[in-house]
Amino acid sequence: MTKPANELTIVEAARALRAKELTVRELWDACEAVARAKNPELNALLEIFDRDDAAIAAAQARIDTEGEAAPLLCGIPLAIKDNILIQGKTASAASKMLEHYTATYDAFAIAQLKAQNALFIGRANMDEFAMGGSTEHSAYGPSKNPVDPTRVPGGSSGGSAAAVAAHMCIAALGSDTGGSIRQPAAYTGLVGLKPTYGAVSRSGLIAMGSSLDQIGPMTKSVEDARILFDAIRGQDPKDTTTIPAGTYTEYAAPEKLRIGVPRELLAKGVDADVLARFDETLAALTAQGHTVIDVALPTSAYALPVYYIVMPAEVSTNLARLDGVRYGLHKEGDTLLADYLESRAAGFGDETKRRILVGTFVLSSGYIDAYYRKANAARALLRKEYEQAFATCDVVAFPTTPAPAFRFGEKSGDPVAMYLEDIFTVTANLTGMPAISVPMGTVSREGVALPTGIHFTAPLGGETLLFKAATEAVK
Ligand code: GLN
Repeated sequence: MTKPANELTIVEAARALRAKELTVRELWDACEAVARAKNPELNALLEIFDRDDAAIAAAQARIDTEGEAAPLLCGIPLAIKDNILIQGKTASAASKMLEHYTATYDAFAIAQLKAQNALFIGRANMDEFAMGGSTEHSAYGPSKNPVDPTRVPGGSSGGSAAAVAAHMCIAALGSDTGGSIRQPAAYTGLVGLKPTYGAVSRSGLIAMGSSLDQIGPMTKSVEDARILFDAIRGQDPKDTTTIPAGTYTEYAAPEKLRIGVPRELLAKGVDADVLARFDETLAALTAQGHTVIDVALPTSAYALPVYYIVMPAEVSTNLARLDGVRYGLHKEGDTLLADYLESRAAGFGDETKRRILVGTFVLSSGYIDAYYRKANAARALLRKEYEQAFATCDVVAFPTTPAPAFRFGEKSGDPVAMYLEDIFTVTANLTGMPAISVPMGTVSREGVALPTGIHFTAPLGGETLLFKAATEAVK
């Protein structure tokens, strides 16, 4: 084997395990050693789990007895974002509020992975309650970008991204409400998939925006993303928004794709080097026989303000349960109201408070028509526009982010500057459509080659189209 075990992809590690070139224990040890060595600097993982010998032995036994028939994720160490419940482990959503919360059950996605005998290396750092784009809003300090530790790894799933990019694990789970899988994947040179809304159960995912949230894979290759997605998807009676099998059209990816590009959205605000990488990638796709066409998606210009109304509204509702009474941080006040106020003041960080305030405002009786209902109407229009665009193309493409990874502190003092990083990613959450980010080369900043990502969106249930486009784009 040429690469160290921890640097393998899922496909490569699964092959090596079956060929007996590697044992599950050796794979685990390689990941754990690198995780323990690099985590003090990168802060990718909030906790590195102790080696679970029983789980390792069970995975090894399954590979030994089932051979090629064993699931591909059997014995593969994964990092899990700290808002996804693993029974018996802490799940803090990187908040002081849930610092001592222990999960009492497995998220559906975790149960699916356990059924395949996957292993868990640790809890990945994130922005508090998944709100942010840099991990600077974590109550436990930011994660660093392994490509350039003076820069953010993106967010909110920045810890998952840093853990995979630094090879502390083979792949990771993140969650995506407005881009939190795709943006950190773009910043660290990984593949990140936001599945169709309802493809993956939200049971056991600490809720941020319930109509937007999806769990998804962050991986070193497109094929790995497909494998991990296939493992965690499925209908779950505990999440009634999960899609019953056969509900959506199954898209067979055509040999040659029609790629729609909304040029007018790229006219301003996109870094010139990022745009150059994007055009080169499109040129390479054209050279392979795919067609690039113009599509008009004018309502996309409003996607960011729509997202920053709908999302905080849902955040304010979801986080209302964290009142210091039922579970989580408790501060004793003189009255019940004082208990609430003191617990929430101490438990939540500034960004979380900001969004609760905005969300409460846009839902208040005097403003709900002006903001929340308007935003919902625009959301419906956005979806319709995309559906119309998909009459003429198979996927829509743009850069995942307007610029490469930024430096610590560059945007943390200016919430709107931080929100603008999400301009291209939020639409897929608002429409429910699946979207993927894959590497499209690097741009040079102070002599460092920083990764960038190309982003594809497909119709509802069109993950097959995304995997096809993504595979072609990285050829
Ligand atoms: N950066 C976006 C936000 O701050 C996305 C968050 C997410 O997808 N969880 O809301």
